[in-house]
Amino acid sequence: MTSVLGIIGFPIGHSISPVFQQAALDHCGIDATYRAWEVSPDQAGDFVTGLRRAEVLGINVTVPHKEGVIPYLDEVDDWAAEAGAVNTIVNREGRLIGHNTDGYGFLRALREGGGFQPQGRRVLILGAGGAARGVVLALVREGISRLLVANRTLPRAEALAQLARSRGILAQAIPLSWNQLSLAAVEAHLIVNCTTIGMAHGPDPTGTPLLLHQIPPTSLVYDLVYNPLETPLLRAAARAGAGILGGIQMLVYQGAASFEMWTGMAAPLPVMLEAATRAMSALAADRGP
Ligand code: NAP
Repeated sequence: MTSVLGIIGFPIGHSISPVFQQAALDHCGIDATYRAWEVSPDQAGDFVTGLRRAEVLGINVTVPHKEGVIPYLDEVDDWAAEAGAVNTIVNREGRLIGHNTDGYGFLRALREGGGFQPQGRRVLILGAGGAARGVVLALVREGISRLLVANRTLPRAEALAQLARSRGILAQAIPLSWNQLSLAAVEAHLIVNCTTIGMAHGPDPTGTPLLLHQIPPTSLVYDLVYNPLETPLLRAAARAGAGILGGIQMLVYQGAASFEMWTGMAAPLPVMLEAATRAMSALAADRGP
């Protein structure tokens, strides 16, 4: 029997998870198909309930379902409980277990791709949405020394800063304004873009949340945006002489962790990264210059 895996989202056409997960399944000789399902929020409960079938190994979950699926699961792990969000569901003989591998993927990419150890470092987070929350929780666990959260909607930044303070981290919220950012960036060892600024098809695809002269050459700039692979922020950071890390490695590492939970096999990382990078490059070529 061919096993079934996949991803649910709404919309879902943009996802490249089917490309790199199928490449991994094929490489490992696993008889399984990884699909993409566009599921509206009002259908998500029924969809998840239907995952208890024997042929389903599990699924990934993306926007807007990461919180909404939780009531339909039998159990969630610590990371998912803390984040209040699930990105991976595993079907263990009819029991549905929710996991969140985003924080793991973020940290692994930071260490392996960025060569950065977060403990004791000062961090500037740009954005305060779902991704920023996962990033803040991961960095707080690692014992960073200081956190600044900058966001267009200040109360959302304040809520994240408060979350970090409640875990003993010195943290402050600031508006996403050029003046404030200039001051905040100077002292940062790590700057993470968790906004959708610079994302293809997003609200500001050609924009950058920081300008070249605001980026310290001693910092690492980590852009969670992976479409395009090279964002305006990463281009500015490279010109400023800073270290740079794009979002594609995080995407692949969080997917690799899901793969290992579903299959019990080591994920073929180079195969997944190569397939994901090729898919993103093809998308960029389709968009044209
Ligand atoms: P989200 O929950 O919708 O949050 C969006 C964030 O961007 C909010 O902070 C929002 O500010 C800000 N924003 C949106 N438009 C803006 C604008 N025009 N000017 C200033 N700020 C703006 O989205 P998310 O799920 O956190 O995702 C954020 C980004 O991370 C996306 O590009 C996503 O693709 C990427 N991501 C990557 C990975 C990976 O594996 N690499 C994983 C997760 C997410 P307000 O609060 O003011 O609205």
